[in-house]
Amino acid sequence: MREKNERQKWKKILQEKVQPAFLAPWQEEHKEKEFKEIVRETLYNINSLKGDKEEQKCFLGESKYIIKDKNDILTVQEKAKMPEESTSIKEVMKEVASYFNGMFNWVHPKAMFNVTPPAAIPSVMGNLMGAMFNPNLVEEEYSGNIAALEVEVVGMISDLVGYDTSQSIGHFTFGGTGAYLFATKLALTKCLGKESRWEGIRKDPQILVSKVGHYAVKNCTDWTGLGMNNVRAIDIQEDSSMNLDHLEQVMERCYEEGKPIAMIVATMGTTDAFGIDDLKGIAEICDKFVKKHNLKNRPFIYADAVIGWAWSVFNSYDFKENDMEFSKDTLKAIEECREKIKYLYLADAIGIDFHKTGFTSYNSSMICLKDHNLLDLVTRDRNQMAYLYQFSAYTPGEYTLECSRGGNYALGAWCNLKYFGLEGYRAILGNLIESEKSLRKVIENESSMVCVNYKDHGLVTLFRVYPKSLKKILGSEQFAKEQYDKEFKDPSYKESLVKYNEYQFKVVNELQKILFEENGPALSFTSNFRVTSYKEPIAAIKAYPMSPYMICAEDELKEHIISYILKAADRVDC
Ligand SMILES: *Cc1c(COP(=O)(O)O)cnc(C)c1O
Repeated sequence: MREKNERQKWKKILQEKVQPAFLAPWQEEHKEKEFKEIVRETLYNINSLKGDKEEQKCFLGESKYIIKDKNDILTVQEKAKMPEESTSIKEVMKEVASYFNGMFNWVHPKAMFNVTPPAAIPSVMGNLMGAMFNPNLVEEEYSGNIAALEVEVVGMISDLVGYDTSQSIGHFTFGGTGAYLFATKLALTKCLGKESRWEGIRKDPQILVSKVGHYAVKNCTDWTGLGMNNVRAIDIQEDSSMNLDHLEQVMERCYEEGKPIAMIVATMGTTDAFGIDDLKGIAEICDKFVKKHNLKNRPFIYADAVIGWAWSVFNSYDFKENDMEFSKDTLKAIEECREKIKYLYLADAIGIDFHKTGFTSYNSSMICLKDHNLLDLVTRDRNQMAYLYQFSAYTPGEYTLECSRGGNYALGAWCNLKYFGLEGYRAILGNLIESEKSLRKVIENESSMVCVNYKDHGLVTLFRVYPKSLKKILGSEQFAKEQYDKEFKDPSYKESLVKYNEYQFKVVNELQKILFEENGPALSFTSNFRVTSYKEPIAAIKAYPMSPYMICAEDELKEHIISYILKAADRVDC
């Protein structure tokens, strides 16, 4: 029998193991110290996975992957078991750190894999605070003033892109895809009427987007039940932006077929190259189309600006003064993009990823609407959600897809926007563009390499490399450029295009080995960054620098990046 004063087992576990795992409900110095100690130790564990500066290693720890093939997935899953007894926090934190082995370290300048940003410390801290106190942005009652913080970000971004802040509205969501889905839902409801929310989609509204628009359009049309066949792909021009003549033709064809156009998506910065659609041109074509056919509804214009939005920090930049002292090439590249990005305000809604060019942790995305009245279309009836919205003035949960919506999205973005300001973002982007310019110059000087997206001026450089043996065959110093030119334009080169597509893939495979074994750069591959004039996919190797530590000096780029690519090609050749 238990003695009178002895605690029951559950109480013992609660007090000794459970409560210590939570933050103290009140100020308690020793609890704060304990927490700090856990943070300190965790930081130590994870920091020791970084290489030292000279090592030039762009991934953490060792490149030993637990999942090497599909069978391993099953093994991992079958072996996993929840422990019977609770462990110590120390042990758990040590164990979890080991899972970061082999992961790319996005903040390393040689990690140039994709538009995967290193998260800046202000956003990390914003996320940490959100994680600690867990505001839920379903409504104000569950998030306190973090609700106001979300509204502030909407205000800052509306102002940045040129929306009227007294009319605009927005909210954070789970990704660029979430923003796209929200826009699709709005556009469909606007096109088909509110009744469609009860009756379903019984017509075939069309969604128009350029051929190099993101595949999110497929998810959105699939998941809304509209159907992927109702997406029409518009041709692109050489700079990867939408061909407006083709857009107009497709719109007329939709009209002739009696199919309403629900939405036109302007991609403001494509994922592979950095194509920016002519939003002003698209808006003008829409107006013309509506007038010509005397339509009640203008197609909804959505700007998929998840990457390109950040260039809005240059809307107010004085390009003559150039007080950031950017080089001539960089300045020109930025100005060219700015000339298109400045029309973002013409879109009915804009999708923004802070977890891309805003340098926050994942996920942090926002949809911003030009006119708050649009939300009436999708707002649910309050009595469908009886236990919510009794005491709040701010109730985004009435129209968001999410019920619970963490405050972290907004907190991370707010902290970064406040910290960097226009100046900080200008410097981050400016440096990456300076570096892109240098990289392209170095590629230009390599006879076996050719840059294939020289017409767009984002952060990314796409290139192809050719075997040195081609030099003799073509008898030219510029053999890569000449070969690619023919492959691009001349249908009789289709076979060699396909062959050298395969070659790019082999080089990237070799680069992957060099990356882990010789601390080479982390580059990636796209099997289809666009199609040739005769509609064949073109593969390319992709260098997407995102680190604020990215270098610009040509000799360093040659040493740390190009030399490895040439080495990889040499190995494929033998
Ligand atoms: C990344 C991307 C998306 C998808 O956004 P997520 O945040 O990954 O969901 C959509 N469009 C473009 C152009 C993108 O680059």
